[in-house]
Amino acid sequence: MERVLIVGAGAGGTMLANALDPRRFEVTVIGASADHLFQPGLLYVAFRGASARRLARPERQLLRRSVRFVQEAVTRIDLNRHSLTTAAQQQFDYDTVVIATGVVTDRAQIPGLAAWGERIGDYHSTVAEAQKLWRALAAFRGGTIALGQSTPLIKCPPSPIEGILLTDALLRRRGRRAQSKLVFLTPYPRAYPAEAMNAILEPVLRARGIEIRTVFDVDQVDAASGAIRSLEGDTLACDLPILIPPFAGAAITYEPAGVVDNDRLLKTDKTTLRVQGVEHAFALGDATNLPTSKAGVGAHLEAKVIARQLNGEAAAFSGRTHCPVDLADGRGTFVIGSYAAAVVPCRPTRMRHWMKMAMARIYWISLRGWLEPMFDWYFARTAPEKLAGGATARP
Ligand SMILES: Cc1cc2nc3c(=O)[nH]c(=O)nc-3n(C[C@H](O)[C@H](O)[C@H](O)COP(=O)(O)OP(=O)(O)OC[C@H]3O[C@@H](n4cnc5c(N)ncnc54)[C@H](O)[C@@H]3O)c2cc1C
Repeated sequence: MERVLIVGAGAGGTMLANALDPRRFEVTVIGASADHLFQPGLLYVAFRGASARRLARPERQLLRRSVRFVQEAVTRIDLNRHSLTTAAQQQFDYDTVVIATGVVTDRAQIPGLAAWGERIGDYHSTVAEAQKLWRALAAFRGGTIALGQSTPLIKCPPSPIEGILLTDALLRRRGRRAQSKLVFLTPYPRAYPAEAMNAILEPVLRARGIEIRTVFDVDQVDAASGAIRSLEGDTLACDLPILIPPFAGAAITYEPAGVVDNDRLLKTDKTTLRVQGVEHAFALGDATNLPTSKAGVGAHLEAKVIARQLNGEAAAFSGRTHCPVDLADGRGTFVIGSYAAAVVPCRPTRMRHWMKMAMARIYWISLRGWLEPMFDWYFARTAPEKLAGGATARP
């Protein structure tokens, strides 16, 4: 049997492990954490004070019984020798390796951010950090809140806009909006990078009285005052700087070292998902340098492509994105695009908000692959190539 080693037990690694036929493959998943976190839920922990009770489940329970799960952090992968080493010095050999280690936040890249992160948390790291942010927001009595991504590389591109809209909704609910100024920061020239969706989302921000600062690349945060300085030379005074930290790939040493870029992301062929220049190695999800959104949807579709290739079928990743956006007023929308089709405009509706909320419930069974016929139908129906040409997306 072919030995497939999957490194990383998140959305993509788990889906792939469950998609492989146990009669053909001996599958081992090595994951650093015993628990699997539903990361989109961090938004609601941080901005609504939601309970984190249902956000994590033991990884072992999410995998087919035939899949071996090893809870260990991988420290070294020798792609030439088909072998890897864990922090506990265990060694594993493989016929094919799939790297699905996601990304981690790295506050140290921005001077002053670590001190603020320590104090107020963030909503892209852990449950504890999201709970810390909730407490900081709960203690906020008025003043200026600036929220945005500190670097262009980000997990879940709509999450900055969702964060500022949920902050606005929270302050309104608490009767503190009149005493507060909200500033949305972005390194891009518009509030949402893709123009078709910016045309929909930017007016929503403006209608809620949110100031938008574009082309603002965060350089440093004043550890005492919270003022944010940009690389472009602007300074923004603020009381609560909610900055999404920079991200980086897992701290793994590779042989050959050149398979990762400066952000420690795997250099991955954008359609075959093979690690460039190496035989029998694939990468998927956030861990890659693919020119598409870092989102669970991408990890899901990439896992399907790798599973088909391992089965000997011809399969190529289309670069499909389908990221939900919560407008914090009961409506939702999606950012839908692919390598071949630019992002299409997608009108906010209540139904689309409901679909985002429903994902929190069906996520756990979707990891098992039981909903694939439904997803295949849905993604085919909403393919951006079909919707391109000005049509407003209709799921
Ligand atoms: C606030 C927020 C909202 C989001 N909303 C959405 C949304 O609405 N829709 C959507 O599609 N996506 C959303 N995402 C993004 C989505 O959660 C991620 O893109 C997705 O989880 C990526 O899957 P992955 O398998 O690539 O990585 P992950 O799910 O992050 O999994 C990586 C795994 O690798 C493990 N690992 C890391 N290093 C090592 C190592 N050295 N050894 C062993 N194991 C290791 C980790 O422990 C983890 O289990 C959101 C993310 C956030 C933070």
